[in-house]
Amino acid sequence: MVILAHMGRAFFAKWIILRMPFTVGFQPTILRPLAEKLENEIWCWALDYADSFSPITWSSLQTKLLRRLLTSAESAPYWTHLFRVLEFSRENLENPTNMVRLPVFTKFQLKNTLESDRCAHNIARDRFVRAATSGSTAEPVALFQDGYDLRARHVGILKEIRDAGAPKGSSMFAIGLDTHRYLNSLLAYRLSNTELEVPQYRKQFYQMVNKTTQPILFTTPSLALRLAALIGHDNAKIAFRLIRCTGEELSLSVRRNLSDIFRSRVVNFYGTRECSPIGVECTAERIHCVPWTNYLEVVDAEGNQLPAGSEGRIIVTSFHNHVMPFIRYDIGDRGRINPELCPCGRTSPTVEFTGRAPGIIELPSGNHVAVLGISTNIAMRFHGEIMRFQMEQSGIDSFIFRFIPTVSYSRVTGESLLDFFKKTFHGELKCSLENVSDIFPNDSGKTPIFIKRN
Ligand SMILES: [Zn+2]
Repeated sequence: MVILAHMGRAFFAKWIILRMPFTVGFQPTILRPLAEKLENEIWCWALDYADSFSPITWSSLQTKLLRRLLTSAESAPYWTHLFRVLEFSRENLENPTNMVRLPVFTKFQLKNTLESDRCAHNIARDRFVRAATSGSTAEPVALFQDGYDLRARHVGILKEIRDAGAPKGSSMFAIGLDTHRYLNSLLAYRLSNTELEVPQYRKQFYQMVNKTTQPILFTTPSLALRLAALIGHDNAKIAFRLIRCTGEELSLSVRRNLSDIFRSRVVNFYGTRECSPIGVECTAERIHCVPWTNYLEVVDAEGNQLPAGSEGRIIVTSFHNHVMPFIRYDIGDRGRINPELCPCGRTSPTVEFTGRAPGIIELPSGNHVAVLGISTNIAMRFHGEIMRFQMEQSGIDSFIFRFIPTVSYSRVTGESLLDFFKKTFHGELKCSLENVSDIFPNDSGKTPIFIKRN
């Protein structure tokens, strides 16, 4: 009897994961919020249940989700053509690893193919939601999200914050993240980046948060740090139950700092506008793949899958965007899938993000210097004198190194820095140092390590 009940629940959970959502376009509209609430609960239940699914069960579910996605992709001219040329058919997809027959889809291809060619033509227009990437690489790209995808993100957040210990009905606040539409229906209040700099709006925000029991904050690490500096300036006190950081790397020191200042648990979340969520933090502070929403691979430079434990490019196929399918999409991050099980009890693999390729500095001679190499060198050689920094190629032959010094910084450090840059750029860039007290987040609420202006 117990076994039958377990089988029944497992069957129902799989059925939900394969078929949700139902409420996109639900009529009559007046009943939609109620229907969505019910759907949230059923979907969250299924996902909780699925946390204990075996790798074989996930492989079978992902194969079905991929086939469903490929059915939509077949009506988009770009993918139709590619499938035909490669003689690739969804009927022959036996398991998710067969996806390796398709090439990696890069941001370059995204920008250089016609948008209409990448859109599925068999999907109702009301599911198309206009969006753009956040532009952290200074190259924002326009795209379409799917109403299905926004619902999946919404439910993903509910599950994530409940797993992080936040009770049902917690009030949610955001600072920045203005373009994260899926947050809209969850939030009690959102303070924009520019409002954060206005004392009057901040005061209102403090009052609202302090009136709430169990408040949750969604923001970027840069904006959370900015808020921390401003509450010191305002002589205010504010605490959160949970701070969910996204959009940038969350270092251990920033996490501890924010946790102390806001007396809050601080969790990290990996996602992209194109394919989200990609990694969700568990109670053991590890980042889990999100197997119900995308298929994640780690590949080498040629797009071949690497075994668990190997470091490479992270490639994602998103299950819930049928209107503009992202198939084997290179999100621009590197990382590895860990071979061992997480102590938290979830069976999904954990993933370690080893960094975003932050870009290339092009010298007037045509030579290139990798930003990552420079930042690693600076971290190694000047970590005692420089607290934070940002590099900017302000013109074809000019470069600014912006930094917040520590108390150990001296004139000699400045000379060593200029000498280091002169050697790195072979004297081709005119370098200047900008000693600042704060490095401000950009319009997306992020503080990129490298900005290219020209
Ligand atoms: Zn875990």
